[in-house]
Order: sequence, then C-alpha cells, then structure tokens
Amino acid sequence: MITSHTNGYVQEASAPGVSHRERAVDCPGQEGSLIKSPHCSVHMERIQHYHEELRKRREGDHKGKHDIDPNTSLRLKKLSQNPKMGIDNPTFEEKEKAPKEVTSLEPVVALSGSSLCARLSELEELLQVLKWVQQCLMDSQSQQDVETIMQLLTKEEFRNAYTIYSALSQQMSRVSPTSPLTVQAQDLCQEVQRVLQTSQQKEGLELSALLTNPHLQALMQAHDIVAVQELTEESVTQYLGETVKLVRLQKARDTPLGATVRNDLDNVVVSRVVKGGAAERSGLLSEGDEILEINGIPIRGKHVNEVHDLLQEMHGTLTFLLIPTSHNKPAPHRQTVMHVRAYFDYDPSDDLFVPCRELGLSFQKGDILHVISQDDPNWWQAYRDGDEDNQPLAGLIPGKSFQQQRESLKKTIPDRSQEQQGKIWCSKKSKKLRRKNTSTLNRNTDHDDILTYEEMSLYHQPANRKRPIALIGPANSGYDDLRRRLLSIEPEKFAVAVPHTTRNPRIHERNGREYHFVSRSAFETDLAAGKFIESGEYEKNLYGTSMDSVRHVVNSGRICLLCLHTRSLQVLRSSNLKPFVIFIAPPSQERLRTLLATDGKTVKLEELKEVIENAREMDVNYSHFFDATIVNFDPDQAFQELRRLIDKLDTEPQWVPTSWLC
Ligand code: 5GP
Repeated sequence: MITSHTNGYVQEASAPGVSHRERAVDCPGQEGSLIKSPHCSVHMERIQHYHEELRKRREGDHKGKHDIDPNTSLRLKKLSQNPKMGIDNPTFEEKEKAPKEVTSLEPVVALSGSSLCARLSELEELLQVLKWVQQCLMDSQSQQDVETIMQLLTKEEFRNAYTIYSALSQQMSRVSPTSPLTVQAQDLCQEVQRVLQTSQQKEGLELSALLTNPHLQALMQAHDIVAVQELTEESVTQYLGETVKLVRLQKARDTPLGATVRNDLDNVVVSRVVKGGAAERSGLLSEGDEILEINGIPIRGKHVNEVHDLLQEMHGTLTFLLIPTSHNKPAPHRQTVMHVRAYFDYDPSDDLFVPCRELGLSFQKGDILHVISQDDPNWWQAYRDGDEDNQPLAGLIPGKSFQQQRESLKKTIPDRSQEQQGKIWCSKKSKKLRRKNTSTLNRNTDHDDILTYEEMSLYHQPANRKRPIALIGPANSGYDDLRRRLLSIEPEKFAVAVPHTTRNPRIHERNGREYHFVSRSAFETDLAAGKFIESGEYEKNLYGTSMDSVRHVVNSGRICLLCLHTRSLQVLRSSNLKPFVIFIAPPSQERLRTLLATDGKTVKLEELKEVIENAREMDVNYSHFFDATIVNFDPDQAFQELRRLIDKLDTEPQWVPTSWLC
C-alpha cells in the first residue's frame, strides 16, 4: 500500500484490489466504491450551467457591494472613482457642488440636497413634537427644560452637527468593513525575515527586529485567524430541484484543511472533518457532502488520489461547489473533552486499519491524550498533552472499544494460558473468564479488563494531605539512597511508613516506632484482607507495609516516602492514597559501574547487565503507571530533580485517574 498526503484532503492511496482504509471503517462492505466510473456528462453540463449562473450572480453581487449609494457622500463617490484623491483635499468642482448649509464642515463630508432636506425635516418634526409636549406639561420646570432642548435644536451649529452625524452613520452602515488582503500575514512575515537574514543595512536590521517582536507576531497570528473567518462564506441555492452549496474557504500554504474524502461510485464525498483544521473551523463542510467542483474544476468522476494531488497544489481562496449531505446534520452538541492516559504504544504507520495514516496520532504508553471528538466511536480525534498549541489539527486514535476488541483478538491464544494463571492468582478474574465462554452479550464488559485508556483528571494536592511518593527502580539504581537523603535533610517534611513484622522486638526497639510487632496469624489475616501494599519473608519472619501506616503519615501532614517493587503498584493505585510514582532508572552500564565504585561497591559485569535489563523490563511493563522518570546519571542532579518534582506537586495540579476522585 502506498500512502499519500495532501495539505488539504488526506487520503490513503490503495493498490488496485486492496480494500481502502477510509472505507474499511466508514463504509464497510462497499468494495466497489473505489472503482472509477466515467464522468456523468448530463450532471456535468448542469453543473457547468449552474456555475456560469453563479459567476454572473457573483459579479453582480460584487458590483453592488462596491457601488456607493447616490444618497451618500459625493466626496466618497469621487474617491471611489479616483482612489488617489485624499479626503482632506476637496476639488474646486466638489466645493461648488456641496450644499451651502454645510460649507463650514465641508472638508469632512458633504451631503446631496435631497438627503440634507430629509435630515432637516426630521429635526422640524422633532421640534413640532416638543412644542406639543411643552403645551401638555403642567409644571413650569419641565416646560423650561423642553424650551432649552428646542433652543438647542434650532441652533445652526447643532443642525450642522446633526446633519453630519446622520450622513456619517448612513455611510458607515452602507460601506462594508475592509476585506482582509491575506490570511497569511505570518507566512509573509517569515518570508521577509528570511530575506533580511543576510541584510546588514540599518533599515533591514531594524525591520528584522520589529518582525521578530513577540507582540507583532501575536498580532499577525490574530490577524490571520480573523481573516480566515472573514473570508469564509457559504451560500445555498436551488438548482434544477437540487440544493447546491457554494462554500468559500481560505487555505493557507502548508496548513491542512483537515478533512478526508472517499469515492462513492463516481462521486467524491467528504468522509471526515477533523477538529482544528480550516474545514472544521469554518463549519461549512460536512461529512457526507458531495464535492462537485473546487475552484471551477469538476471533481465528480475523479479518483480521491487525483483530488488529493489537486488540493495539494491549491492554497488561498478555495471555492467548493457541493451537494450537501441528505443526512440530517446531527444537532451540534457540546463536545466535552475527555482526558485519558494511554496504556499502549500507538504508531499509525503500523496500523492497517487507520482510515487515514497521515491523520493518525502516534503516542506512547503513559502519554496523556485530550480526546476532543468521539463522533466516530472507532476513531477518536485527540491531541497529545502539550501539543495542542503548536499542532492545530487533531489526530486520529483508535477508540476504546475498538482497541479493546483488537487487543482481545490479538490475545486469543495467549489468553488461554492466562486463564490458567487467573485461576491461581485471582478468583475474580477466573469468574470473568468463565462468563466470557458462556455469554457473548457481555462482550464489551468483558473487554473492560483490557487496559487501553484510563480517564484522567487534574488533581491539586491539599496542603495538609500530601501525596505519598513511591520510588520505583531496580536494585542499585540508587532509589534507596535518594529516599535516605530526603529523610535526613528534611525529617519534619518527609517520613516513612512504619512497617509490620512478625519477628520479636530487639532490645532498643519500641512497638510502633521501628515496627508494628504483630503475631504471624494477625499478619496473615491482614494480608488476606488486602491491608498491605507490599510484603515479604525474611529469615522465616514476615514483613510488610500496610495502607494504614501510609495513611498515618499522610494524616500527619508529612510526605510518605515509599520504595516499592513494581508488583505493588497496582495495589497502591487501587487504594485511595493517590501516590505519585517516580521511576529511578539507572544510567548506562559504564556510568553505573563508576557510580557504584564511588560508593565502594564492586559489581560484576553480569550484575550490571542485570540492573539495566531489570530497568528495561520495568519500563516496558509498567511505564504507564509512572508519573515521572529520573535517570540517575548523577546522584546530586537526580536528587535536585526529585526535589523539583515533589515541590511541583504543591504548585501545579497533576493528572490522576478520574476514578481516584469519585
Ligand atoms: P530487620 O529484621 O533486620 O529489621 O530487617 C530484615 C529485613 O526485612 C531487611 O532486609 C529489611 O529491608 C526487610 N524489611 C524491613 N521492613 C520491611 C517491609 O516493610 N517490607 C519488606 N518487604 N521488607 C522489609
């Protein structure tokens, strides 16, 4: 399969006989839809005819728009005929033609005689009304007030001012605001900067400094956004019983329109409109609209790849002639953004099913994605966190159920072996697996145990309940040293959870300080009840960290520091402790050897390799649970980075699973 890309419409090029991607999701089973058919000549004739009509009408509209109403200013009329004439420079002829009443203000504006009379008769009418009001009023003060107004209305200066005001307001309502000359002010700006790069002249340097000024750049950006909206328009007309829509869009160079097309017999139909593109922003192109023409070029009968090539060359004003979709446009519903954390890596270039690879959004496990459209349940539209400012066009990502179904299909064989494991490890899971065999109705529910995306929300930790910090990493990666350093530097800020043990207390040890000393049976009961985050056996004694011990530290207002194995992460996450998980990764093998040697530790090559390999495995299997990663290349720098991350929890909200906040 060959892929191709256009700035505007993006479409997968299919090899002959190979099913088309866009069609595979949007129009299942329509294998014949890509087959090209000859132009439909009757239709084309009608369209040509219609186009001619539109052209004439547009010419007419255009003329009408720029003609100056004879009732308005002669001066402006003159100006429209001779644009070089300055408004402060009236001609002699003009002065002569201007009505006498306004000569004192003539340099500003002049009125035709009939218009002037109309204005003055309005004033006379007002005076009559006021006279009548005055007679009706009983108290002398009110009569006096009306008298004052009447005196004002008869004053020469007032009458002139009123006449000018009326003329101007009439003028303003007739002359439409200036149309933008370009929607690419930013591009032009960059082009000028490129040209000026080699310039050593004073003026060149000055202009360059002006153009790189952030305020000016922001102004250009704002201009282009407004200009695109100004130049976008739509008109709907009936032609031979068919409703056709004429849509004018602005397409900047190198800026995608953000839509896809598909062939439907010999028709070219808008298949998908992507959020953030010019097509979506204009609101004028809809999924299902048939494109008849683009800038007068007939489109019906063309293969989508031809449309793609055509649009790639086009920019500026694009005029689309469309047959609007007969399907009722869904009522515009407020799209709520859903924030998710991805639990799988995704590369659209590896995905056979993505409707359009070029619009696919690649991401990695652990990335936060902002899903802005789920209109197509199979292909959501999303931005990667942080990308939304410099990447206006959203990308396609597999929808949750769609991805779960794919994962489930992929796992069909491995699932059998997991089923065995499930029976040993988790009775809940084996029940689920049994249900899967007996019922197909609950298919979606059954896929819920396949992790694809987790909904996330922003959470700002309260000052008196700090999130526990869980340090994760392979032995010798230095996480334990980092924890010790934090505890020794700020013991009033950080603390560890007091562990439980079944061994006997030593002489200096006090229950609840070094350990909670408990009987083996009490420990095992708590373990079975799921009260421990982690546990282990050492020299026939049980040891473990309980959730309650962590909670005790949290309630004391201090930050609980935990060093955990990755297998404890799931339990910790399902508690309500809202941990912040930091992965401490080892540096390169050589650097690790040097660091350990500095600490007086000599380790074998195999051990070094094992540390690196363990870290890699942890990263592959658990990176989606890590809130941050620190590569421990330099212990001091790693410590500073750790402090920075911990401090950030006080100042910035962080993404946490939405389920934690329910
Ligand atoms: P000790 O009995 O000498 O205090 O500790 C014996 C071992 O138990 C040490 O290796 C120590 O790291 C480990 N240990 C202490 N507390 C815990 C705990 O909460 N969980 C686990 N898994 N091991 C612990």
